[in-house]
Amino acid sequence: MLSQRTARLTSSLIRDILAAAQRPGMISFAGGLPASETLALPRLEDVPDGVMQYGPSEGEPALREAVAERARAMGMRCDASQVLILTGSQQGIDLVSKLLIDPGTPVLLEAPTYLAALQSFQFFGADCRSVALGEHGPDLDALRAGLAAKPAFAYLIPTFQNPSGRCYDAAHRDATAEALDAQQVLLVEDDPYRELVYDEACERTPLCARLTRAPWIYLGSFSKTLAPGLRVGYLIASPELFPYLLKLKQAADLHSNRLSQWLVLSQLQGDFAGHLARLRTLYRERRDQMHAALSEQLGEAASWQCPPGGLFFWLQLNTPGIDTRTLLPEAMARGLAFMPGEPFFPNAPAAVSAMRLNFSHSDPASLRQGVRLLAELLHEQQEG
Ligand code: PMP
Repeated sequence: MLSQRTARLTSSLIRDILAAAQRPGMISFAGGLPASETLALPRLEDVPDGVMQYGPSEGEPALREAVAERARAMGMRCDASQVLILTGSQQGIDLVSKLLIDPGTPVLLEAPTYLAALQSFQFFGADCRSVALGEHGPDLDALRAGLAAKPAFAYLIPTFQNPSGRCYDAAHRDATAEALDAQQVLLVEDDPYRELVYDEACERTPLCARLTRAPWIYLGSFSKTLAPGLRVGYLIASPELFPYLLKLKQAADLHSNRLSQWLVLSQLQGDFAGHLARLRTLYRERRDQMHAALSEQLGEAASWQCPPGGLFFWLQLNTPGIDTRTLLPEAMARGLAFMPGEPFFPNAPAAVSAMRLNFSHSDPASLRQGVRLLAELLHEQQEG
């Protein structure tokens, strides 16, 4: 009854963690949720009549134009005809998978990488190959070798990566773009966190803006800046790829929710810059609070970098050999949820002793209490 690819569906663990993390009283560092207090519903006034009718598959023209304008301001050469509005940028990952992956198709990824992209690529049967992601970008020798083997595409998250929080520096951006151009490998650049920048000196120009020969698909989202529940994201693609993606979008859902698109547009036309500035201030404070709590409480139990942007700390336990999945049941029993590192690796090593911690969704008291619970658990582990 079921298709063969259904056998490749993965990850009930993550669903279970996220479901359990919603339980009352639970401190959740597990998901990538915005702070609830930033998600006020704007007043619904002046909604254009048309929005209750079927609309264009490409998306609302004014929103496509606004997206293209913002992309040009970040250095990309593009116009509105290359913009496809999506039902969340996750839909872009699905459309890319459908367009490019047959069973066995090689795909190049960072390790670690975004787990729901990995799930999608694996579901379509990709041969997922990975390049280690260092503090300032990918291992460049491994990247060049990986690209020379001609994968169908490279999926990269250069800016405030999920899960690691890392940001490629200018040298790694240049070298990565050069290597993609040299092999003319298609780049799929996923960039939902770029606006959540706390250390302004970070280089954030998209890799897509640096390419001269390689084709590209850029994925963006309003989930982290406005509201994930609206489900509005977008892709911008090289002109030769756009018609295929548009047909796949039509086949998937005809078009994205028009009321949501209108809400996003009305926010972009208002004081969006002010909204982003407030968001950065709030999240920078929370990042600093989590960093301070980790520094005070964890001692030698783990290592991490303070992320220059995005929503996550990536914690590496200093006691090797502990698979952080094994810590989760006890942590949850004590009221703390986190995301173990294993599902973020295409070809996970035997025991992944890393974990991802979100800081945007918890208030200062919960951040402190959550880190205290984590510290207790890790110190017991070390002693035991
Ligand atoms: N890409 C990355 C790297 C993400 O972290 C997420 C959300 N967690 C998405 C894509 C999907 O976001 P959305 O569909 O809400 O735009």
